[in-house]
Amino acid sequence: MQKLVQNTPDQLDTSYTIITPDAPIAVASHGGRAKCLQRLIRLDMPVPCTAAVSFDGVHGIAQGRLPDTKAMLASFGEMPVVSVRPSSEDPDWGGPGAILNIGMNGVRHKAMTQELGADAANRLYMRFVQSYAVHVARLDPDEFEIDDADSAQALAQVLAAYEFECEEEFPQDPAHQLQEVFRSMARAWEGTSARLLRQSKGAPADAGLGLVVQEMIFGLGSGECGSGVIRFINPHTGYRQVEGRYKRQSQGRDALEGDAVFLQKDSRGASMEELCPDSYATLTGYGTSLRAKLREEMEVEFVVDNGTLKILDAVRVQRTSRAAVRVAVDMANDKIIPREEALLRIEPRALTELLHRQVNPESPRDVLLTGIAASPGAATGRIVFSATAAQASHARDEACILVRRETAPEDIRGMHAASAVLTERGGMSSHAAVIARGLGLPCIVGASDLKLKRKDKILTLPSGETLEEGDLITVDGSSGEVLAGTADLLEPTLEDGFRTLLTWAEEVSDIKVRANADTPADADIARRFRARGIGLCRTEHMFFEHDRLTLMREMIFADTSEDRATALERLLPMQRADFKKLFEIMKGESVCIRLFDPPLHEFLPHTREGMRELAGALDLPLSDVERRVKALSEFNPMLGMRGVRLGITVPEIYDMQARAIFEAAAEVTASGNTVVPEVMIPLVSAVREVDIVKERIDVVASQVRAASGVEFAFRLGVMVETPRAALRAEEIAPHVSFLSFGTNDLTQMTYGLSRDDAGRFMSEYVRQGVYEEDPFHTLDTDGVGELLNIGAERARRSHADVTLSICGEHGGNPESIAFCRLAGFDYVSCSPFRVPVAWLAGAHLALKDL
Ligand code: PEP
Ligand code: MG
Repeated sequence: MQKLVQNTPDQLDTSYTIITPDAPIAVASHGGRAKCLQRLIRLDMPVPCTAAVSFDGVHGIAQGRLPDTKAMLASFGEMPVVSVRPSSEDPDWGGPGAILNIGMNGVRHKAMTQELGADAANRLYMRFVQSYAVHVARLDPDEFEIDDADSAQALAQVLAAYEFECEEEFPQDPAHQLQEVFRSMARAWEGTSARLLRQSKGAPADAGLGLVVQEMIFGLGSGECGSGVIRFINPHTGYRQVEGRYKRQSQGRDALEGDAVFLQKDSRGASMEELCPDSYATLTGYGTSLRAKLREEMEVEFVVDNGTLKILDAVRVQRTSRAAVRVAVDMANDKIIPREEALLRIEPRALTELLHRQVNPESPRDVLLTGIAASPGAATGRIVFSATAAQASHARDEACILVRRETAPEDIRGMHAASAVLTERGGMSSHAAVIARGLGLPCIVGASDLKLKRKDKILTLPSGETLEEGDLITVDGSSGEVLAGTADLLEPTLEDGFRTLLTWAEEVSDIKVRANADTPADADIARRFRARGIGLCRTEHMFFEHDRLTLMREMIFADTSEDRATALERLLPMQRADFKKLFEIMKGESVCIRLFDPPLHEFLPHTREGMRELAGALDLPLSDVERRVKALSEFNPMLGMRGVRLGITVPEIYDMQARAIFEAAAEVTASGNTVVPEVMIPLVSAVREVDIVKERIDVVASQVRAASGVEFAFRLGVMVETPRAALRAEEIAPHVSFLSFGTNDLTQMTYGLSRDDAGRFMSEYVRQGVYEEDPFHTLDTDGVGELLNIGAERARRSHADVTLSICGEHGGNPESIAFCRLAGFDYVSCSPFRVPVAWLAGAHLALKDL
């Protein structure tokens, strides 16, 4: 039945093209499906006669310029019956559904009754009347739902329903039918809802639609007849295996429903391989050639017509990110595509899906409220309202979700114990967000619609409903949605394909990636993800272990420098052990340790109960503790006594930390693994701060060298977190080996915007277009970026080979990485779980050389 139709020069109507191996068909003018069909034809596959209507042609149809459908149908032979399918540039942009059996009418039905038998003819005609009524005439689908009736009765019923609704006979002229199908599809594409839907999938506003008209092969009739769908991978895992269905005496995608048979031999039942072995063998052979020639895993729609195989269509297999990675790596390993292309086929952000549990996208969701998706992944647990309750829950082996107004350093142990975190306040770089990303913990912040009554242990939802401690919820940190109860979660899968892709990305990326890692556990993850060192170790997190917290508080309460030194002396071995572990895990890669940064009062209790406990532990009167806590409180602690200011006014803390770093480095170096630690001073705003701290650190280094007899080296650097440090970088750079831009604080200070409170209004700001994006999430390349460029350029003026990097949360964001690469930074540093995304983003940039 296949016809070889050539485009003849005298073909009058140019609004459509018969697809032949040489016809002028392009994705940009006719869409992906039309182009793919041409490729199948070029591969000599038995594709029935097919015509393509271009984007311009379809646009013209929407405007009322209809092609000569009579002439078009003539290309398909006498009494043609055809299908029409959409062909947009990118199949993900959607399009109207296919309509089959156009051309069926009373005359054709009669002829077909002779040819295929009454039942087949009835079913074909009925199917067309149903889809024409619903999709073209836009009649109520309920009127055309037919229960399992006798096919002759059913056909009579749908024809009568059409006549009743439209007050006219079902259209009998195939050319008219085809025109109406064209018109309805063209209009549907230009409608507002279809446009908004495809724009949400990345389509441009003026994206075109092409249409593909194809001779119908029925899959019904005498001999072996049927239709089916086959693919050669599992769309969830990407592993190569034959999947799909075949249904005898069926057409279209019917094979996907009901009593279809297996494709491959299967002990559970009949298979196409046994029923029609030749067609099956040909089909699997096509799978191999499609993969090799089209360089893609395709899903193929086919028909067996009286024992002869026909290929109707092939589309790219829709797949999960996990499968996409597997397919890309397998194809590169099989030399079908180069490694570079394999890298470019995976969106960097898609890797996050592989690293964390996800809510099954196919399962239903009962959304209670939404907030800012601050750390990806999903977890289910019972609500707890305090860090202590989280720890208790953990001790009982019970998963919990820590719900807080916002988190503070004292909540860290609770966060470790929780399965996810939800906060009412905060933005992308608030404490909860930063820590959760570091821990790989799902987290939603800035859920400002929830009202938290911590005392009553109740939270009220926007709907007015309330949830209590112990209620089950699911936090989806990838979407920012809080779901009621449990959810179907998909486990992360880090397979060899993922690791291979990561190795290739690292080789290609021309900007290095380090990790922000505070603990040995973080460092282990960072190494697994191939981080080239630690770019930021926030040492203060090490003081929150219970035994250390008390010592820390003792140090804070000390009245004299000697008392302080005594408390610090006891913290020293603990810090030294921490650093030693980090150096050992990172095996010679750089480890950048930031000296103490937060305001001291963060280490003090804030409740009366906590103060009473502390008074007991330190053997002090409660009033003393209260007085001291009060004295340390500040109006604006984030702009107060923190960072290097503390280092200058309470220098014993930095002395102890420097000693711990150097003693650890000396020990590890002495054991044969040379370590060159990096010591970083936070929150610098004046060169004199660097001078003073540097002088003391140099003294400590000399003392440790002398005492240990080990000649270790170290590098000193500053964090550029204040606008002034960026502006004065030329003056600062000669004193240091590196500058690392802390874009969390730098964004906060550039905008004058509290990183802990921004969540309250950020969504409104973004909604109204005041800010294009949350600047704590995506680097503000205009303002903060200008400071980065100024800082980098001025630093290089006075210190040409100074190392430049970024270690704020932006370090893991692909757009921000692009900016840093253009600014000539040496590396970015981000949470361990974002390291793979950063490597792949770096590789994409290098390959596209943007
Ligand atoms: C920063 O300010 O960008 C930074 C990395 O430091 P922190 O988030 O610890 O303030
Ligand atoms: Mg900072």
